[in-house]
Amino acid sequence: MNANAKDIWVFVETAPDGLAACGIELLDTAAQLADAYGGASVAVVAGSADGTAAAEAALCGADRVVKLISGALSGVSTDTYAAALSQLMEGGRPAALLFGASPLSRELAARMACRLRTGITTDFTAARIPSGSDSIVWTRPVFGGAYMAETTCSGARPQIGVAKQNAFKRGGSARPAVETVEAGGSLSKIAALCALREFVPAAGDGDLSIEDAQVVVAGGRGVGSAEGFGQLRELAELLGGAVACSRAVTDADWMPNSALVGQTGKTIAPKLYIACGISGAMQHTCGMEDSDCVIAINKDPEAPIFEIAKYGVVGDLNAVIPALIEEIKRIRA
Ligand SMILES: Cc1cc2nc3c(=O)[nH]c(=O)nc-3n(C[C@H](O)[C@H](O)[C@H](O)COP(=O)(O)OP(=O)(O)OC[C@H]3O[C@@H](n4cnc5c(N)ncnc54)[C@H](O)[C@@H]3O)c2cc1C
Repeated sequence: MNANAKDIWVFVETAPDGLAACGIELLDTAAQLADAYGGASVAVVAGSADGTAAAEAALCGADRVVKLISGALSGVSTDTYAAALSQLMEGGRPAALLFGASPLSRELAARMACRLRTGITTDFTAARIPSGSDSIVWTRPVFGGAYMAETTCSGARPQIGVAKQNAFKRGGSARPAVETVEAGGSLSKIAALCALREFVPAAGDGDLSIEDAQVVVAGGRGVGSAEGFGQLRELAELLGGAVACSRAVTDADWMPNSALVGQTGKTIAPKLYIACGISGAMQHTCGMEDSDCVIAINKDPEAPIFEIAKYGVVGDLNAVIPALIEEIKRIRA
């Protein structure tokens, strides 16, 4: 494939059902960057043979859609994806290569930066090209979100950016998509060498994840014990949500790391975030402050969490949560 040095590529990962799983939310940003460079936004759709994700990409801002189809491109082996992307770049390197925030995309981005000896910016929340400049200026949070830093990788090609989780929303500006390319060559050999031997699901897999949940009930040290999370689970279940927690909780082994929100955990933006017994340290709030509505339950009226909460309840969560559960049940009955 002939790559234009002014193009912006976006790696679009596909889910097992063939739909776009990650990266598609960056196509609007890619289109804006491509316009500034005078190039095209290119969705590199990998892992799907049925074209569903490719069709989605065409509707979300891609000028061109490149389908990387190969039996080798499935599962979680980033080696094969890296080989396929490198193959594509034999025809020339684009100006930038953008990745979403999934575990596979993050790992792949790092591998590509190493392979291509280029610069990488992780967790970007915005990207722009100042007039007269040849480099993308990436904006990313630092110090737990207290400051925003601007970084550039001057002279690097491609400039690699990995988006911060939930920082971008899927756009709807359809552009004409014109091309598909099939991956081939040595991919099946690489896939055989890097075969996944065993997949061990993490404890709790199969439950609604806190990234996907529209309602998240989160507990902090104030919950008091692992058993104390029982009432949070009951509330989350009633609301069709998931249970998350602060670092104080994972440090005490009351909840698994997969439920951790914040600087060292996940960044989520549900419709409703109910913070129970969480003080609101910056390292926690940077992972949930984009939630549409935050309700805080805390017995300390001075707790910083109230500064970002839309609704606050000053009280003991052991009294407030059971009352809330009872009221929801009563209304539903
Ligand atoms: C480098 C670094 C990275 C970090 N990363 C993260 C991270 O990713 N995520 C994270 O969460 N933290 C992180 N932390 C830790 C963070 O600084 C805080 O220490 C942590 O978030 C505090 O957790 P907490 O709010 O549950 O506990 P606390 O700060 O102890 O707050 C407990 C709250 O519960 C209230 N409370 C107590 N009992 C009750 C009750 N019965 N009813 C109602 N309210 C009650 C108290 O008033 C208090 O406000 C990090 C720290 C560092 C240094």
